[in-house]
Amino acid sequence: MVLEISSAALDAIVADANASPAREVCGLLLGTRVRIEAVLPCRNVAENPADSFEIDPQALIAAHRAARDGGPGIVGCYHSHPNGSATPSARDAAAAENGAIWIIAAGGEIGVWRAVSAAFEPVAYERRR
Ligand SMILES: [Zn+2]
Repeated sequence: MVLEISSAALDAIVADANASPAREVCGLLLGTRVRIEAVLPCRNVAENPADSFEIDPQALIAAHRAARDGGPGIVGCYHSHPNGSATPSARDAAAAENGAIWIIAAGGEIGVWRAVSAAFEPVAYERRR
């Protein structure tokens, strides 16, 4: 199965990452199992945002509440690696929830991954309008 990702979502992730070259940016991926429609940029509240991220828990709670109330589903998260590659770090693997989609932006590259048993497998995706 090829995951569809809207151009708007991909462009928003790259723009968010490019606007913050010294610290990791992060946010939520909204949509369904087969298509990521939009992103919700969130505050990175990690103690050391230069090389780690933690999505603002308030934003996370609000997004889950909205999803329960019929809003867009949360299918995963994105973040950036300002000085790294678009592959997940060991810390990322430890934090990943099984089945979640993770998008990592690094230096204009995009990596799309699915968390499986505290590890990641690459996800085939297609940019669609
Ligand atoms: Zn990371």
